[in-house]
Amino acid sequence: MVLDKRIFKEFEEIVGVGNIDDNEAMIECYAYNWCQELFNYIDDDAPIPFSEVPLAVILPSTTKEVQRIVKLCNKHKIQFKAQSTGLGPWNQPSTENCILVDLRRMNKIIKIDHKNLYAVIESYVSGAQLQVEVMKFGLNCHISGAGPQVSPLASHTSMAGPGFTSPSTGHSARNVLGVEWVLPNGDIMRLGSIGLKNKPDWYNGDGPGPSLRGIMRGWIGAKSGLGIFTKVAIKLFPYPCSTEYNVTGRSPNYDFDIPDFIKVYVMDCRSHKDLEKVILRVGEEEISFICSHFSGLAVTTIFSNNIESLMNKVALGSLKVPLVVIIAARTKREFNYKQKVMELILEELKLTNIIETKYTPEPIFYAEALRSNLGLHGFMAAGSFMSSGGSSDTLALCFNAAINNTMLKKKYIKKGAVVNDYGEGVWGTTYEHGHFSHCEFPTMFDQTNTYSIEGMADYVEKSNKLHLTKNLGAPFFVEGTKMHEFFGPYMMDYHKWLRKIKEAFDPNNIADSGFYISPKSKTIQDFKLKLKTKLRKWNYESKRIEQFEPIEVLHGRTFKAIGRSVKFIVRVFRPRRRSSK
Ligand SMILES: Cc1cc2nc3c(=O)[nH]c(=O)nc-3n(C[C@H](O)[C@H](O)[C@H](O)COP(=O)(O)OP(=O)(O)OC[C@H]3O[C@@H](n4cnc5c(N)ncnc54)[C@H](O)[C@@H]3O)c2cc1C
Repeated sequence: MVLDKRIFKEFEEIVGVGNIDDNEAMIECYAYNWCQELFNYIDDDAPIPFSEVPLAVILPSTTKEVQRIVKLCNKHKIQFKAQSTGLGPWNQPSTENCILVDLRRMNKIIKIDHKNLYAVIESYVSGAQLQVEVMKFGLNCHISGAGPQVSPLASHTSMAGPGFTSPSTGHSARNVLGVEWVLPNGDIMRLGSIGLKNKPDWYNGDGPGPSLRGIMRGWIGAKSGLGIFTKVAIKLFPYPCSTEYNVTGRSPNYDFDIPDFIKVYVMDCRSHKDLEKVILRVGEEEISFICSHFSGLAVTTIFSNNIESLMNKVALGSLKVPLVVIIAARTKREFNYKQKVMELILEELKLTNIIETKYTPEPIFYAEALRSNLGLHGFMAAGSFMSSGGSSDTLALCFNAAINNTMLKKKYIKKGAVVNDYGEGVWGTTYEHGHFSHCEFPTMFDQTNTYSIEGMADYVEKSNKLHLTKNLGAPFFVEGTKMHEFFGPYMMDYHKWLRKIKEAFDPNNIADSGFYISPKSKTIQDFKLKLKTKLRKWNYESKRIEQFEPIEVLHGRTFKAIGRSVKFIVRVFRPRRRSSK
């Protein structure tokens, strides 16, 4: 599909020349994203790393411009998808009638209220940028495990929210204060104290009147399916230690001046029962900055910056049930206290800290921990990973899910579909010093190999279904119509209410609901429309792949469509080599 030139002009009038582009090279680039091939495959589409191609990419710079774009989308019945820094498939369009709203020009820190502990930011402020500014006041912000390069606005308003520092900085959903929100019909909604008539300010996210936070983002976020957030106030926290942050050297061999009062503990808890005990004790004492359970392999990766240094640490990988705790303090007295508590816990539970005795981390590890930059190490071993599933509940339930997942994963390891981490790939943490907990199952697979993608997709599906067969509560990653409709009936039909919210807020279905919920349940018409779109896409892909040559024919895959079985052949292509003249 192409954008009508007259409509393009109307959009251009809003943002100015140069801030909208429908050039083929540009929109094709925006169609690419990490792990898109996996989600395509799960959605019965070709396992290629491209989503639907957006009609155009538009870059507004103010809330007014965002509002006018959304109104124009309503006028012309074009959908929109918002993007902050664009990490991962969740910001990709799910239909071909969609314009991508790239918010990179909305990049300002509006306010830092260091007395009342909050900051107001726009979409394209990264966690690292905000952190460095609030550090000037001795403060810190919650950065999701995705890393400091992504947008806290996206995480706080629209998507997920656990992070490595969750024991001390919580979950994004819990840290949202005032919000400025362009609704799918173009109205502007200001939630919380910023919506007050008298003395509006950002300090509170709920009311006046009933809180809309559950509707605005709920637990995992609407992922642009309910409009565009243009500003958000988020809570700030005390920085855990001295804010001196001196990094020297060159990538990837950086050095770091380790602050005085910070210490890491890595211990083998031997069993999940003991692991639970240690985590709950550490939580109860409220002493940890980070308290994360990883698999043995993941422990080796967080301390490594390349494959070679990872291979040098295979001994660390043999830890059975590892726990990584970081304590940090602003004063010697506070530090001594926290160390004493840790020593007591270790003694009580007969555990040994292997740090400084068996292994000493490079100083850069501390810099990365302080900057919430540990997650990206997950790419090191296989080039890619994705969590197959997860839970947010009591610690016991989270670990129960992890144990069940390990057994399931081993089947896919045996098939050679995913990387062998002994089935243990796991990241678990608590929120707010143990009030509740989170666990997910990072799994490494080969994004360029259809067999691996297929295996991973199957594993993801089975991993989510384990929650039903093993009574593991709600899976963490329930997103998109297909999953909501599957899990809704097992969970008091919540999907019907979610759909009612979508319909009430977005009567014209203008906000792309790819990772949220479609306004209507699937009717035959919707199905036919989807099939038509898919056929058009396959047609388009086949034109695109004329510029490529086949290198491998994998295997046929059978889909059931309108009562019939249709077989597709999956081929892998590479760009055609130009003959040298
Ligand atoms: C390797 C890796 C590890 C990850 N680990 C974690 C983790 O530990 N914890 C966690 O919470 N998440 C994690 N994620 C997911 C991550 O939270 C999201 O990818 C994150 O929000 C990315 O931020 P972003 O700036 O790239 O947002 P984007 O990808 O740009 O946006 C994220 C979602 O929010 C929507 N959105 C963005 N901006 C707006 C806006 N202004 N208004 C309305 N909707 C908007 C997008 O459409 C999209 O659906 C991980 C992702 C990766 C790739």
